[in-house]
Amino acid sequence: MSRKKITVQGAGICGLWHALTLAKAGHAVTLIERSEKPFTDACSQYAGAMLSPFCEEEGTEPLNRDLGLRSLELWLETYPDTRVQGSLVIAQARDLRELDRFARVTEGHERVDGKRIADLEPELEGRYETGLYIAQEGHVSPHDALPFLLEAVRGAGADVHLGTDTIPDKSDLVIDCRGLAARDDLTKLRGVRGERAIIRTGEVTLNRQVRLLHPRFPLYVVPWSENRFMIGATQIESDETGPVTVRSALELLSTAYALHPAFGEAEILEFGAGARPAFPDNQPRIVVKNTHIHVNGLYRNGYLLAPALAELTARYIVSGETHPEVFC
Ligand SMILES: Cc1cc2nc3c(=O)[nH]c(=O)nc-3n(C[C@H](O)[C@H](O)[C@H](O)COP(=O)(O)OP(=O)(O)OC[C@H]3O[C@@H](n4cnc5c(N)ncnc54)[C@H](O)[C@@H]3O)c2cc1C
Repeated sequence: MSRKKITVQGAGICGLWHALTLAKAGHAVTLIERSEKPFTDACSQYAGAMLSPFCEEEGTEPLNRDLGLRSLELWLETYPDTRVQGSLVIAQARDLRELDRFARVTEGHERVDGKRIADLEPELEGRYETGLYIAQEGHVSPHDALPFLLEAVRGAGADVHLGTDTIPDKSDLVIDCRGLAARDDLTKLRGVRGERAIIRTGEVTLNRQVRLLHPRFPLYVVPWSENRFMIGATQIESDETGPVTVRSALELLSTAYALHPAFGEAEILEFGAGARPAFPDNQPRIVVKNTHIHVNGLYRNGYLLAPALAELTARYIVSGETHPEVFC
């Protein structure tokens, strides 16, 4: 393999996985990040970050499931705190049609009754009569995973330059992982705002992420370490990243409360909003423009897709091989 000098732009989840994968493959990698303090301007800091190849089949192409399953393997090989304890999908009794619809458009699940739900999540005993359990899904916590990956990038021999957007001279290739900032070059890219809350309570224990289906406000709760729970996420056609609105805060918190009333006593640690970079069909793309390669449009699935996309980019650099649904 010929060793290339590669600059990766952007230390969000996409850039971190690219820098790591390419440095491990033996390239001379420089990762540049515009913000002085890493992750402060990255959409990636707001994610769940669920690794849900099957649940995300709702509304995306089968490609995402296949890339997502490969990414799960790569997360497990790379990051020891990757948790794969499955997902539980439930609905209030009046919304069971939503559960049937969700079951029709996704795979990889088993129907579970109230007893099995109680076995999986004892604190939900008696609250839900039926649901879907997807054993192969997991999550990481962005607050821990992003710094871990940045250190792994350094450990793999890459140079990391923070607080700069200057591309070093003599780069053979630029891998552009600037997220929504790449709209100057990728005009079809748009923002899809997502708002989330982080709360803390010792009164509720969940073993896995729980999705609560609802015809208008489908939301989820992800258990992180130290009694923290991420409640997400709204989906609004906007690239605004300003403060969370009252309406969204009410929706997020009432979902947690509906899932378990003990969430009513939780402390609110943080509200936040990011704009997910998305193409019109919400599918990710690797766009090759000579020596400038964009990897973008990760939409709701940055954590789910970034490892597998980085592997595809690395393969292209070595052999010219392209995946027909991803490259253009
Ligand atoms: C509320 C919410 C919940 C989500 N939940 C999940 C989830 O559960 N699972 C999942 O897989 N995904 C989830 N996502 C989606 C995921 O967060 C995104 O897909 C992902 O963050 C996109 O990553 P990125 O690296 O492309 O962009 P970003 O994270 O935005 O990173 C881009 C980086 O580039 C830097 N940059 C910009 N311009 C330059 C420049 N000129 N030079 C150098 N650096 C530059 C920026 O400062 C930034 O750090 C969620 C998103 C939101 C908002």
